[in-house]
Amino acid sequence: MVEYLKTKKGYFYKLKKNGEKKRISQEEYNKKNKTRKNNKMIGGNLSQLDSLDVSTKTIILMGEFHTDKKIMSEYLNIIRKQKEIVNLVVDKFGQDKTYFYSEAPEEFRGKVLETDNYSSSVIVQYAKTKIPIKLSSITTCDREDSSCDDKYSHDILSIFDENSEINCIIVEIGLLHIPELKKIIISERPDIKIIIVNTVSMKQLVPLIPEINRRYPSVMDLLTIELPYDLPEERFIVEVLYNSSNKKIYKCPMCGLISGTLAPEHPEDTSLFVHKYDCPNKGKIPEEA
Ligand SMILES: [Zn+2]
Repeated sequence: MVEYLKTKKGYFYKLKKNGEKKRISQEEYNKKNKTRKNNKMIGGNLSQLDSLDVSTKTIILMGEFHTDKKIMSEYLNIIRKQKEIVNLVVDKFGQDKTYFYSEAPEEFRGKVLETDNYSSSVIVQYAKTKIPIKLSSITTCDREDSSCDDKYSHDILSIFDENSEINCIIVEIGLLHIPELKKIIISERPDIKIIIVNTVSMKQLVPLIPEINRRYPSVMDLLTIELPYDLPEERFIVEVLYNSSNKKIYKCPMCGLISGTLAPEHPEDTSLFVHKYDCPNKGKIPEEA
């Protein structure tokens, strides 16, 4: 695939598959880059987050599919998107007024906080560095009836009951729970504003559409109203090394892991550079000093 990139100095390049770089105009970059991004990711109306009213009690329902690592670039995009949402909301409401709730069970707190093998671990760990977190009291989730959504709703609303200073809760939860959960919360607390952001990518979604149509048609409606948006690019400076065949490879200065020869050839494809699970550079674009 042809990649488009913008350097720190503000130049625009087209990066061909063979690694050849061609300087292009900003106009061409904007046009191509926009098309590419719109194809890549759906969901998440971030402009809605920009216009949040911090004086109203708010719940952000951040929908996901338990993060699946089969397609690494998709996984990393979703993590970036979720981090971006946490940053935006915390900036808006303030660290002392925002709480994070995850569907990940309290029963497995240790595993959730110390590995990246469990659904959403990475984002729970990230949120924890900024704001208080609550993990769910549910251990088995039965989607056939809506009893688990009642329990999630109770869990979430108890955060407001127990912490009067809190004005916003970011809820990380499976996308399929959202329509029912929204209904339950509104019926119990009509004073609370609910905002839905979807972090499920198109690639993850497409194979599931027949099942969603059959079993959860309200989720389909939810997906069509969510608009695509761009994510800011994150970069970090790498150490440059050469392997035994004198080919360029990269070393991460934070976790110390070393890439193969493909990462220097296609730095924009962040899935080519593997980091330790908790490395802050994970998913960022490597750049030479
Ligand atoms: Zn690293």
